[in-house]
Amino acid sequence: MGEEIKDFSQLKLNSWLLAQCESMGLKKPTPIQQNCIPQVLAGKDCIGCAKTGSGKTLAFALPILQKLCEDPYGIFALILTPTRELAFQIADQFAAIGKAINLKKCVIVGGMDMIVQGLELSKHPHIVVATPGRLADHLDSCDTFSLQKIQFLVLDEADRLLGGHFDAQLKKIFAALPKQKQVLFFSATMTDALEKVQHLASDKVFTWQEEDDAG
Ligand code: ADP
Ligand code: MG
Repeated sequence: MGEEIKDFSQLKLNSWLLAQCESMGLKKPTPIQQNCIPQVLAGKDCIGCAKTGSGKTLAFALPILQKLCEDPYGIFALILTPTRELAFQIADQFAAIGKAINLKKCVIVGGMDMIVQGLELSKHPHIVVATPGRLADHLDSCDTFSLQKIQFLVLDEADRLLGGHFDAQLKKIFAALPKQKQVLFFSATMTDALEKVQHLASDKVFTWQEEDDAG
């Protein structure tokens, strides 16, 4: 067992990220953050499972923002999530942390104007948070943006995304991504679907699952 991490400064995050966490009142990284952030910073693919409310969003947002600062070119990260509501929540957390670097983010979900979204996509956002159906619609209809510079693919609520309902859209999206990228899966439960995703990740995938009783 590694030594226990007591505060964010032990995670090798840049000082601007630490300052941002502090200003948001975040004191100690949650277990999934303690375990996954160093691995993501080290370039590993990651499968992280912990119950709802355990801080999975920052477990991927913090290391992605750190890497983004090193090489901010093209759409840098794509975060897929099953619902509109989750997409907005994730985008809000990226915006809160990323305001220090003028983060440009874009939310691509159903029920909003396709043309407006297409324009936003063409303006080179750093981060795209999307539901699979609407992003697949844009890939069908629009050639003003490219996902070829993506360095991170995140599947948030991966068990729900990979449960079958989104298969056709995900296939289309994955085909539009570069081969070389880090893939991060986060989920509340480790289901069969999630166990089957190992093939989407590389063989250096780091898997971390919260114990039922952390006590
Ligand atoms: P999950 O995706 O695991 O369900 P979220 O990432 O949405 O959980 O986080 C739930 C809440 O916990 C959010 O309001 C978030 O700001 C807060 N949070 C995240 N990390 C920490 C932390 N290290 N300390 C305190 N609160 C945190
Ligand atoms: Mg979440």
